Amino acid sequence: MTKLSDSVQYVKGVGPKRVRILNRLGIETIEDLLYYFPRTHSDRSRPKPIAGLLDGEYATITGVIKVRSVIRPRKGLEIIKVAIDDGTGIAYADWYNQPYLIEYLKEGTKIAISGTVEKKYKKTEIKNFAYEIIEEEKELLNTLRIVPVYNLTEGINQKYLRTIVKRVLDEYASSLPEPLPLDIRRRNKLIRISQAINSIHFPRIRRNYQDARKRLVFDEFFLLQLGIALRKKKIEEVGKGIRYRKPGELIGKFSQLLPFELTSAQRRVIGEIISDMQQDKPMNRLLQGDVGSGKTVVAVYALLKAIEDGYQGAIMAPTEILAQQHYLTLQQLLIPLKIRIELLIGSTREKEKKRIRKKVEEGKVDIIIGTHTLVQEAAKFAKLGLIIIDEQHKFGVLQRATLRKKGLTPDVLVMTATPIPRTLALTVYGDLNISVLDEMPPGRKGITTYWVPQSQRRNIYLFIENEIKKGRQAYIVYPLVSESEKMEELKAATEMQKHLQEEVFPNFRVGLIHGQMPGDEKERIMTDFKNKKMNILVSTTVIEVGIDISNASIMLIEDAQRFGLAQLHQLRGRIGRGEYQSYCLMFAIPRTFEGKRRIKVMTETGDGFQIAEEDLELRGPGEFFGTRQHGLPDLKIANLLRDQRLLETARQEAFTFIKKDPNLKKPEHRLIRKSLLSKFKGGLEIS
Ligand code: ADP
Ligand code: MG
Repeated sequence: MTKLSDSVQYVKGVGPKRVRILNRLGIETIEDLLYYFPRTHSDRSRPKPIAGLLDGEYATITGVIKVRSVIRPRKGLEIIKVAIDDGTGIAYADWYNQPYLIEYLKEGTKIAISGTVEKKYKKTEIKNFAYEIIEEEKELLNTLRIVPVYNLTEGINQKYLRTIVKRVLDEYASSLPEPLPLDIRRRNKLIRISQAINSIHFPRIRRNYQDARKRLVFDEFFLLQLGIALRKKKIEEVGKGIRYRKPGELIGKFSQLLPFELTSAQRRVIGEIISDMQQDKPMNRLLQGDVGSGKTVVAVYALLKAIEDGYQGAIMAPTEILAQQHYLTLQQLLIPLKIRIELLIGSTREKEKKRIRKKVEEGKVDIIIGTHTLVQEAAKFAKLGLIIIDEQHKFGVLQRATLRKKGLTPDVLVMTATPIPRTLALTVYGDLNISVLDEMPPGRKGITTYWVPQSQRRNIYLFIENEIKKGRQAYIVYPLVSESEKMEELKAATEMQKHLQEEVFPNFRVGLIHGQMPGDEKERIMTDFKNKKMNILVSTTVIEVGIDISNASIMLIEDAQRFGLAQLHQLRGRIGRGEYQSYCLMFAIPRTFEGKRRIKVMTETGDGFQIAEEDLELRGPGEFFGTRQHGLPDLKIANLLRDQRLLETARQEAFTFIKKDPNLKKPEHRLIRKSLLSKFKGGLEIS
């Protein structure tokens, strides 16, 4: 007796060669085959009368073979021609070089055929068809029913997959153990798993398929949300976090120093954060706000709250340059308050690193800023109270586990510039509370975006020259193509800088910044640019994140088609940060429909939310979030956009479930526990 977890090689009809091919599709076990869901279905359940067939349509017919002939027009070519009669008319079908079929395609045989109709000189032919001989007691798999269509790979066809899937279904599906408790199935009107697995492949009617899909989507969401519920519980369980008590004198002082008024969104969000921090359990909050919405100031308020009570704060940035930027900004803002800030990044000298770590350990630093690995792995804190993760949609939530392992239970604030629809946020950040900065600081002049043809290059340069003469500064961005082409890209950027400096803008200063530069050099260049020692900065994507220079009002992006939509939006967010009208100009030669759409979307809207939704649509949720990065299992059948309602109910059920059986210890939940552990692959810490 074979088990579900046994290799597919035990399925009849699967030899060693086929095993390897199936492996390529991710099918290793018998269970994998059951869960290899069809990409779509082809409804061949209703045959049409031959007399009524239309030229070009895809149709199924069924009838009796009336005439069969074999012709050999030339050597090496043998065609079996068959006429099928269904009582309303005759249709013809050909088989090429399959002489062994002659004995099956006999006159008088009943046959079903699904294919494309071709009408020629009053003759009806069926092309590119699937066919089956109809016999009593034989179940058809390829015609006269709703037929599954699978993703294939070389060496395997639909017919073969349907056959082995059906074989496995017949043998195993009815005995599949049911993991979901009856009450959950009842409440949500979900069919049994055995039935769902059967109907997802071979539904009898459409309705069967819909019911099956609903059940399987629910299962995916339910497991996902169980995992998230467990994580959330784990976080809250670490027991007491810090409860800050001081009244907020530091914050008061800071507010007076601030050169602008907070937006009401900022005030609301700061309120949410402070109220979290004043509670016993550790804060876990996500701060969502488009580029330029003013997340940094919000972060400063949280930091001050922690510092006032004698705690330390850390900021983890995704890149060195952004860490540097935060360092500069915070220093400017906080030096008057005598807050001690240090920067710890890869390019910091070893000796310096040592000195900083020591100070952190001794509690002589209030805020440490760095790239996430450094802050996380290297530093021992005297009294860590708050961690701010500026993730710019680059890294995940998982590393909090590492901190917890060190016995640290700081408050955590994750900041992201990716606007995410609420239900989707529940999936990816389902274990966090969410705050949204949905208002831009006042006085922004806005950004006008153009997609310009290459023929306008001279004019564009003239335009930039004019803006610079008015005192503005410009970024010219070259995409970093790929890791392997790093050197070439560097060469291109270097040469372009030279060309621009010598031939196009000889009267201005043109600087260059790129990813391969040592950190202190990058810092020096950014500082020079900020201090207007350069008019133009040629760069690779290193400026993508966080850089804040309000006098820079022009961005020219070369080969814009190479960037993703979110990336373009982030890039563009570097301008339009001050009181000047800003311009984003893109040269692009998109080669695909999506590519063109991306560029167009950029010219049509500046709204991060809208851009995120377009991006989601163009790329699909999997890629959009990089779920793997977030340590979440992939969704095979559920669609985050289409199935939002089911996601909500599955979430509620999962959280209730965890309340009742917090460690999934009940014997009847054994199967759920097992799938959970295998799905999250170490991303969960349940005993
Ligand atoms: P992001 O959300 O992209 O990190 P920043 O925090 O860098 O945005 O803020 C962008 C710019 O807006 C900064 O120059 C910041 O000083 C400024 N800013 C932030 N809040 C306000 C406000 N309420 N009024 C005016 N300017 C603000
Ligand atoms: Mg920022």
